[in-house]
Amino acid sequence: MLLCVGGGIAAYKACEVARLLVKAGAEVRVALTPAAQRFVTALTFQALTGKPASTDLFDAHQELAAGHIALADWAELAIVAPATADLMARLRWGGAEDVVTATLLAVEPARWLLAPAMNERMWASPATAENVRVLGERGAKMVGPAIGEMAERSHSGPGRMSEAAEIVDAAAGALAPRDLAGVPVLVTAGPTREALDPVRFLSNPSSGRMGFALAEAARDRGADVTLIAGPTEVAPPAGVRTVRVVSAQELHEAVNRSLDGARAVVMAAAVSDQRPAQAARQKVKKSDGEETLRLVRTPDILAGLGARYAADPKRPVLVGFAAETERVEEHAREKLLRKNLDLIVANDVSAGGAGFAAATNRVVVLDRDGGRAEVSGTKLTVAHAIWDRVRERLR
Ligand code: C5P
Repeated sequence: MLLCVGGGIAAYKACEVARLLVKAGAEVRVALTPAAQRFVTALTFQALTGKPASTDLFDAHQELAAGHIALADWAELAIVAPATADLMARLRWGGAEDVVTATLLAVEPARWLLAPAMNERMWASPATAENVRVLGERGAKMVGPAIGEMAERSHSGPGRMSEAAEIVDAAAGALAPRDLAGVPVLVTAGPTREALDPVRFLSNPSSGRMGFALAEAARDRGADVTLIAGPTEVAPPAGVRTVRVVSAQELHEAVNRSLDGARAVVMAAAVSDQRPAQAARQKVKKSDGEETLRLVRTPDILAGLGARYAADPKRPVLVGFAAETERVEEHAREKLLRKNLDLIVANDVSAGGAGFAAATNRVVVLDRDGGRAEVSGTKLTVAHAIWDRVRERLR
């Protein structure tokens, strides 16, 4: 991944972009315009990426180590962050007077991801608008700008550079294969809440992140995604049809309503297995001594689908999750067979495992034919690996 840094105050956020890319496992090279180097230094990026940054087109050592054409050939994707008004103008007319523009001139625009950043009046200027339009027509992808406060605190509006995490997600999206184009898929995410009374509930610590990553990855691969999500703090990915539910029963109904036509159903939701037999209409008062809570089972949505499609040759690919604390794979395989699934994602949620709220995950994907794959990385990486397996079974 090539990160091209332009000369604007948002250049400081490019450091975070570099850091997150490295954290996500990408090999990152950085090139800075002369103006960028007035805001951040090459040394900062060298420390973050472990590779010297390119700063000077006419430096013999740099050209020998990683010439700008070699850099252009190497880059699967060139992120331009911040893409300043001036840098985009130069990219439009094809200037090549510094290492960033000279390198980008040798990368086709379809491999550019621009993260514009400038004052809102500069963004609104007809010149910038035209440059952005033309670069877009040539195939350049764009993330942002966001709307909000500018570095000059008195200004606010469109022009603020997108946050680093958003830029990194957009980069992952730009690199994703479009192998699920138009395929309708259903993803569930997050916990459910089973009410005891109007202010208390039974639930679990699912953050929804794994399901959201699955929805995001499917979206990036072109799928037509319906996401059904329980209550979460984290926001669901943009550009995905999202239905919010609270209880297992509501999730069940929402799945049934959205099932029609789905070619894959991925149940990443951590559905409560029980609910209180009765939800009190008013807040329950405390009483002395021991109390008993009577629980009843919630419907097993996934097992229901497995049974319903048991003899259907056109059944959707059914994917379940198995969060386990011991004998993880054994339990997962048993669940795969019992619920009649195609794939199961076994997740170690014991103290020693990765799990619930973390941004990264380590899982084993098992299929009904005995296949087994270990996957680790960010939840987005894990999500893509799961869709790779689903994709194989869709053929
Ligand atoms: O049996 P267990 O709850 O461990 O199974 C987990 C898998 O089954 C997950 O994919 C979960 O979304 C799904 N599930 C369900 N309905 C339930 C409980 C779990 O669909 N009531």
